[in-house]
Amino acid sequence: MTIIIEPVTGLPLIREGDDLPAMIAERISIRDSDILCIASSVYSKSKGYTRRLNDIIPTERAIRIGKKTGEDPRFLQGVLDASTDILLEYPFILSEVAGGHIGVRAGVDQSNIDDGMIILLPPDSMKAAEEVRGRIKAFNGSDIGVIITDTVGRAFRRGQTGNAIGWSGMSAIRDFRGDTDLFGHVLKITEEAVVDEIAGFANFIMGESNNGVPAVIFRGCEKWKGHDDLYYHADEDIIRKSLCSR
Ligand code: GDP
Ligand code: MN
Ligand code: MN
Repeated sequence: MTIIIEPVTGLPLIREGDDLPAMIAERISIRDSDILCIASSVYSKSKGYTRRLNDIIPTERAIRIGKKTGEDPRFLQGVLDASTDILLEYPFILSEVAGGHIGVRAGVDQSNIDDGMIILLPPDSMKAAEEVRGRIKAFNGSDIGVIITDTVGRAFRRGQTGNAIGWSGMSAIRDFRGDTDLFGHVLKITEEAVVDEIAGFANFIMGESNNGVPAVIFRGCEKWKGHDDLYYHADEDIIRKSLCSR
């Protein structure tokens, strides 16, 4: 398959109340079957999923963690408030957020926002993707796929990459189980996290600093079949189990 990737350029600094899907659709042509990736940070800013550090009163736990990590306890409280389960407190908070995504500092960002402010992940990233998809459909009738991305760290390897934290109009996983390989062996295990692969490349186009490209379009991805069970359930997640049993 030949895939064309187009960055959405020319977007201003996004503020609460901005109609992000419309602002994107005004700047780039969007067609049926396109996949639109949007940085979660920018989606959150448009919805006001941000907090002012001065409004946050740290609890004992945040103060205790801050003494170890050297981070601002108000920031850490923002991270704790955004978390549904804490897997690790030190050397950084690693936690689960609503929806099942697990991330360093609950995906809370202090970059690409005014001093003294933090950006939270959308409280329901799946709904966010669905909403953007619906808004594009209403805007020009295009039936597209949407992926909400975030830059995440990884176990075992240095370097961050993009992950999908919400998606709509596609399944998260391409399921190869039951397929045969070139030698006729039946594949028993292979499930491909396609939404993360696309998010990873979108993240490369976006950059992390001052590129100003919070959205990227993928045109020409062949459709795939699979399922949406992207996150391990707690009882089958061996890394989570070993972290939490220490
Ligand atoms: P995250 O990966 O979702 O945490 O988002 P990043 O902070 O890494 O930003 C991803 C991309 O969006 C980068 O190219 C940023 O420069 C860009 N970006 C972030 N905020 C804005 C904004 O308000 N307006 C525009 N035009 N670009 C932004
Ligand atoms: Mn982020
Ligand atoms: Mn990023």
